[in-house]
Amino acid sequence: MRMRHLTKPLMLGLAFSLFSANFILAMDPPTERANTPPLPKAQSSCPVMGGMIGPKDKALHVDIKGKRIYICCAACEGAVLADPDKYIKKIEQRGETVEEAPQPAK
Ligand SMILES: [Zn+2]
Repeated sequence: MRMRHLTKPLMLGLAFSLFSANFILAMDPPTERANTPPLPKAQSSCPVMGGMIGPKDKALHVDIKGKRIYICCAACEGAVLADPDKYIKKIEQRGETVEEAPQPAK
């Protein structure tokens, strides 16, 4: 009979710790639970208007700060030139890689 009095609080404690563990897991966003870093993706769309950039060899682009930023149309060129850091950051935040600009021929 003595054991019965001891098991009840023990079970409650166990249930509570299981509950808190589930709660912490639920709070954790799934992206942070995955330990593998996302694969680098090539830039897929214009960071200014979000338009498609087309095939890389023909796409419009701006080479600035050692980076090559692909854009959808000539109108986006001015925006990138005015604030290149903003658009480089925007591409990186999408999980995409900003291409290195080819070194100019000397
Ligand atoms: Zn555009």
